[in-house]
Amino acid sequence: MLDLVIKGGQVVTPQAVGEMDIGIQGEKIAAVGWSGSLAADAGREIDATGKIVIPGGIEPHAHIGIPVPSEWSGQPDIMTQPPQDASRAAAFGGVTTIVDFAGDLSLEDRGDAPAKSIMSVLEERRDVFRTHAYTDYTFHYILAGEVAPETIGEIGEAVQEGVASFKIFTTFHPIRVPYGQLSAIFAEVAKHGGIMAVHAEEDEIVRYMTEKLKRENRAQGYNLHLVHNNLSEDLAFRHVIRLAQHSGTGIYFVHTTAKEGVAAIAEARAAGQPVYGEALHNYLEFTCEDYKKPGGTAIHTYPAIKFADDRDALIAGLMDGRLATTATDEYTTHKGPKLWGDTIETVCGGHNGIETRIPVAYTKFVAERNMSLQRFVDITSANAARLLGLYPQKGAIQPGSDADLVIFDPGLHKTISLDDLHANSDYSIWEGYASQGWPVMTLLRGKVIVEDGKLVGSSTDGRWLKRRVSGDVISRPVV
Ligand SMILES: [Zn+2]
Repeated sequence: MLDLVIKGGQVVTPQAVGEMDIGIQGEKIAAVGWSGSLAADAGREIDATGKIVIPGGIEPHAHIGIPVPSEWSGQPDIMTQPPQDASRAAAFGGVTTIVDFAGDLSLEDRGDAPAKSIMSVLEERRDVFRTHAYTDYTFHYILAGEVAPETIGEIGEAVQEGVASFKIFTTFHPIRVPYGQLSAIFAEVAKHGGIMAVHAEEDEIVRYMTEKLKRENRAQGYNLHLVHNNLSEDLAFRHVIRLAQHSGTGIYFVHTTAKEGVAAIAEARAAGQPVYGEALHNYLEFTCEDYKKPGGTAIHTYPAIKFADDRDALIAGLMDGRLATTATDEYTTHKGPKLWGDTIETVCGGHNGIETRIPVAYTKFVAERNMSLQRFVDITSANAARLLGLYPQKGAIQPGSDADLVIFDPGLHKTISLDDLHANSDYSIWEGYASQGWPVMTLLRGKVIVEDGKLVGSSTDGRWLKRRVSGDVISRPVV
C-alpha cells in the first residue's frame, strides 16, 4: 500500500504534462501514472483537481543568517533572517530546497593566519541550519580574496564530499578574487568536476564610476545602476567566459542583470561552452527608474537593476533558453536597515524574496506569456537541480525522486500584501503585485509541510544535501 496518493492534478513530469496520479512511499515518489491508474488504497489521498502539481522549487541563491555590514545598516550586529524564518517563508512559497553559501570571509580579521579548511567551514555552516530548517539545504562554497594555494588544493576533497559549486566575486574588496587565483581555481574546479557560480562585475569600472559619481555629487543611491553598469557586466562576463574557455570550466552566472550579459552567455553557448545564467525575480519586474520612488532602493540587489530593455532581455532569455534559472538572492532584513544606506556605497543589498519567486514566475511567464508548464518547472526547479548537482533526486516528478511536491492553484489570484507572507520582515517589494496563482500545499520528501495556509512541518525536517554535477552539464550547454 502506498503512503500517499495525489490525485486529479495537472502533473508536470520531465516527459509529459497531464492529469496524473502520484504515488508516494516513504520519502520517495514510487509511481506516476495517468489518472485512475494507481490503486485506491493509500494511507492518505490528496485531491488536486483543478490544480497544478510541480516539483518543489529550488532556490539557487540565498543568504540566510549572515551579518549585514554596518556600512549598509547603520548599526552593528544586524543579521539576515535565520534559517528557521527563511525556510518557513520558502515552504509557504513552494520552495523545498535552498542553496545558500558557506565560506571563510573573515579576510581582514584573519591577518596572516591561515584560512580555515573548506571542510571545517562547511561543518560550521551546516550547524547553523541543522534542526532549524523546514526545507532541505545545501551550500555553494565561497572562495574569497587572494585564495591560498592550500585552499585551492582542498577543492578536490570538497567535491568528493558533495560540494559541487564554488562561488567567486570579481568585485567588492576584500573578497574579489584576482584573475590569477581565478585561473587556478577554474582549472581545479574543472579537473574535479565542479561548477563555478560567478558574481561577475568589472571591478575597475565599478571603482572608477564610484569615484566619478562622488566627485560629481551624484552619489545618491538611485544612481546605483550607473556604478554597477551595463559596461561592467559586458566586460566581466566576457573575461570570465574567456578564462573558463582556457580551463574547460562550467560557469553559472548568478544574477545576470543586463542585455549585454544575456548576449555574452548566448554567444558562449552557441560556441559550445557550458555557460548558464540566472536571473533574479525583482529584475524581471522593476527598472532603475523605480529607484527614484520614495523608499525605492528597497528593490535593490547587487549588481543593480538596470533599464527596461535589460529587463526585457532577461525575460526573453528565460523564455527562449538563453537563461536557465530564476533565483531571489534572498537577504531578508527589516525595512530600517534595508533603507538606512542611501548612497551608491551604502545601499543595503538583497531583499525579502524567497517566498514570492514561484508565484511571480508563474504570473510573468505562464499566465502572461504562455510559457509551457515544463519550461516553468525548468526555470524554477529542474534546471537549478541539474546545474548544481541535485538532479534527479530533486527537480523531477518521477519514480525514485524525492517526493518534494507543490500543489499550485492557478485560480488563486491575489494582490500580494505583507500579511500573506511569512518572512521575518516588515516590508515586501511585492506588496500590491497581482499574482495569478499561488502555492497551496508543499511536501518535503513525502511529508506535508504546508497545508491550508498552515505550517505543519518541523524545523528538524530539513537536511543538508550532497551534490554532484553530471559530466554533460560541465562539458556543453545542456539546459
Ligand atoms: Zn547573492
